[in-house]
Amino acid sequence: ANGLLAGKRGLIMGLANDKSIAWGIAKAAAEQGAELAFSYQGEALKKRVEPLAASVGSDFLAECDVGDETSLDGLFTTLKTRWDSLDFVVHAIGFSDKNELRGRYVDTTRGNFTMTMDISVYSFTAVCQRATAMMGPGGSLLTLTYYGAEKVMPHYNVMGVAKAALEASVKYLAEDLGKDGIRVNAISAGPIKTLAASGIGDFRYIMKWNELNSPLRRNVTQEEVGKAALYLLSDLGSGTTGENLHVDAGYHVVGMKAVDAPDI
Ligand code: NAD
Repeated sequence: ANGLLAGKRGLIMGLANDKSIAWGIAKAAAEQGAELAFSYQGEALKKRVEPLAASVGSDFLAECDVGDETSLDGLFTTLKTRWDSLDFVVHAIGFSDKNELRGRYVDTTRGNFTMTMDISVYSFTAVCQRATAMMGPGGSLLTLTYYGAEKVMPHYNVMGVAKAALEASVKYLAEDLGKDGIRVNAISAGPIKTLAASGIGDFRYIMKWNELNSPLRRNVTQEEVGKAALYLLSDLGSGTTGENLHVDAGYHVVGMKAVDAPDI
């Protein structure tokens, strides 16, 4: 195959359906010649993920609940049965109780705080531990984050705190793994209508606000996140690690609503 990722093998984690950010990245990676494996959460998602994987030439699927160490071990054992090495991993996974993705952050429960941090933050570190055992120099690990880590966004609440921790973990992982030539980065995506996003209160309003107030005056697509991921996953990004690449139509640089933006 030709392309930026020709001859490279990548694991895509977090594909739920064709709206998933993981799907935007998988399509872009496959188009650039990557050979892909997919992990999905629970048997119920298998029937959705299977045809999507097939459409990009992959029949390599494995179930994995990232909250479970045994399940993670199982995924990487399965991976090793077909692949002796791994070039990149995309971690597009996050979860919180949607009852706490509305209202006030201050009301977050201990149970949901711990669970959100476990699934949305620690899981990336747990994946890095296992993936790097199969990776050589040039390996690339990528996770997805959101601006709610940096600034307070309505209803993002405990997920914002978790994304802040995820972004910090990207920096620590980059330092640890850089000695082995392995890079670790994040993409901070603007709001995109996905299954996970639909759990966030007033998400339509957040999308509209970003559309009206970002420098590009629009929202981004999963395909645009896919294109940016190609840079971080391929040799184009060989000098970049510990980075948080914003793919948000520029929203993160704006300090104040522009005068041409109508009231919403
Ligand atoms: P999505 O619902 O398509 O994907 C979320 C995925 O997480 C699903 O595939 C789900 O199965 C998986 N998941 C949840 N808990 C899991 C577990 N215990 N084990 C294994 N998998 C689990 O939604 P998405 O928006 O594509 O989310 C992907 C990533 O992008 C998330 O980290 C999300 O926070 C991030 N993100 C999304 C947006 C947005 O606006 N959609 C913006 C910035 C960042």
